[in-house]
Parts: sequence; C-alpha cells; structure tokens
Amino acid sequence: MNIIVCLKQVPDTNEVKINQETGTLIRDGVPSIINPDDRNALEAALQLKDKENAKVTVLSMGPMQAKEALKEALSMGADEAYLVSDRKFGGSDTWATATILAAAIETIGDYDIVFCGRQAIDGDTAQVGPEIAEFLDLAQVTYVKDIKVKNEKTLEVSRFTEYGDYIYEVKTPVVLTAIKELNEPRYPTIKGLLKYFTEEDNIKTLTFDDLKVDETQIGLKGSPTNVKRSFVPVKNKTSEILEGDTVKDITNLLVMKLSEVNLI
Ligand SMILES: Cc1cc2nc3c(=O)[nH]c(=O)nc-3n(C[C@H](O)[C@H](O)[C@H](O)COP(=O)(O)OP(=O)(O)OC[C@H]3O[C@@H](n4cnc5c(N)ncnc54)[C@H](O)[C@@H]3O)c2cc1C
Repeated sequence: MNIIVCLKQVPDTNEVKINQETGTLIRDGVPSIINPDDRNALEAALQLKDKENAKVTVLSMGPMQAKEALKEALSMGADEAYLVSDRKFGGSDTWATATILAAAIETIGDYDIVFCGRQAIDGDTAQVGPEIAEFLDLAQVTYVKDIKVKNEKTLEVSRFTEYGDYIYEVKTPVVLTAIKELNEPRYPTIKGLLKYFTEEDNIKTLTFDDLKVDETQIGLKGSPTNVKRSFVPVKNKTSEILEGDTVKDITNLLVMKLSEVNLI
C-alpha cells in the first residue's frame, strides 16, 4: 500500500501578529510547524506502515523553508519526501494549490491513499483535500476519525459529523482528510532528527517543469479568488452586572432590559 500525505508548513498561530497597516500576517521570525491536522494524517499513515507495511511519502508545496516540515516527517518515520516549489506557484489560492498538488501526486504516481489534514490553521478553508480529490477524479472521505483495512483494495473509514459518525466502505485509491480525533501523533525519534537534519538533503524537489500542469491554472494569475483584505475583527461586546436585593428584583430588571431591546 502506498500513501501520500500532504503536509503544509504553517506559522505557529499562537505567535502570529497582524501588520495593522497592511492587514497581512507578520511571518518574519515566527516559528513554523507542521499543520496540526496533517500530523494526524501522517500518524495514520505511519500506523498503516507499522501494521500493513505501507510506504509513506510526504508532499509539501511551499518555499525551501518547508523542507523543515518534511525533514520532521521523515524523522517521524516517513519513507520519502517531495517539496513542490517554483516561483510560478507563488500567489496560488486553494484552487491553484490543489491543481499543483494533484499534478505532483500524478507525477509521484502509484498511490492507494492520498491523505490530507481536514484544514490548515492559517488558510483555514478545508478546500484543498476535496479539490485534490476532484482534480484526480477520486472518491473522498473527509473528517476521518478511524480507519480499518478490510483488504488490499478496501478500507472501512469512520467519518465524524455533528449528527453522528458515518461508516463508509471505500475502494482505493481514495482521498481522506484527517481530524485530530483520529489519533495521537508520535514524536520524531532522536535518531531520525540527527539523520535528517544533519546529514545530506534527501528531499526531492519538483518544479513547474516536472509537472503536467496548465500555467493558466496556477499562481496569482491562475487563481480565481484573491484576498481583498484581512483583519482581526474588533470585539465590541459589552457586559453589565445586574444588581438587586432579591433574585426576583434582578429577574425583573433582566426582563425589562431584554424587552427594551425587543429580545422578548
Ligand atoms: C482567496 C485566497 C487567496 C489566496 N492568495 C494567496 C496568495 O496570494 N499568496 C499565498 O501565498 N497564499 C494565498 N492564499 C493561501 C493559499 O491559497 C493557501 O495557503 C493554500 O491554498 C492552502 O489553503 P488552506 O490553507 O486553506 O488549506 P486547507 O484547504 O485548509 O488545507 C487542507 C489540507 O490540504 C493540504 N494542504 C494545503 N496546502 C498545502 C500545501 N501548500 N502543501 C501540502 N499540503 C497542503 C494539507 O493536508 C491541509 O491540511 C490564498 C488563499 C485564499 C483562500
């Protein structure tokens, strides 16, 4: 079984500050991490490696700095890593990002499961996984919280929804998106960290020329959406503590106040 895990390197959002003039994220000096849901996707893939002898390939699109995320994934136990990077990819929205990742997956080839996180903590759209499935014309199960291998070509996948869990039987190849309830991600091993962060760079890089991708569908120009402005919403909630001698007095005051603003 071959599994490709899409990993996005994201800023550690607890540390992110907004440039008040431009409304953009200040990324300089902010530590980067593997997107949390992607860690769960990777852990699920590594568990399938442990149990089913699966091969785990990690794939990221981003600047050279994203190699750090891939090295960490290798240190956790992934077998192979690809970075997709090219100036032509800059400014891609989710459509263009998924177009590029789908083309990279086709180039890597021979996959049974494409695993994504449900959502990235910076872009926050949860669109890329389902878009990859559409572009590759594959079945998809999102919000995955459990996976069982039924046989070589069939998985039983549990999907979390607010109305209850759904259990699907799916044929591979398939795109799955992971949520945090799926598992507890493992830590990288010391041996792995030493090997992948100090020895030679064994991450394969794919550029525009390596992919069968239509240039009109990628980058800033190929992106059907763009961000007009980003900002932190101003919180303008006010609160008032009602006082009175008895509970009845306070309740009457509350009823009066709510009826003044037509809420009752
Ligand atoms: C309207 C709009 C305009 C944008 N314009 C720009 C821009 O001009 N410049 C710019 O740099 N960014 C831009 N972005 C951000 C860029 O589109 C996102 O970084 C990217 O498409 C991923 O979307 P997301 O973060 O919402 O991921 P989600 O859809 O929330 O991610 C779901 C999963 O997809 C996978 N995934 C997502 N991105 C990657 C990746 N890069 N590599 C590997 N796996 C991945 C991961 O498994 C992740 O958990 C824009 C986004 C939007 C919505």
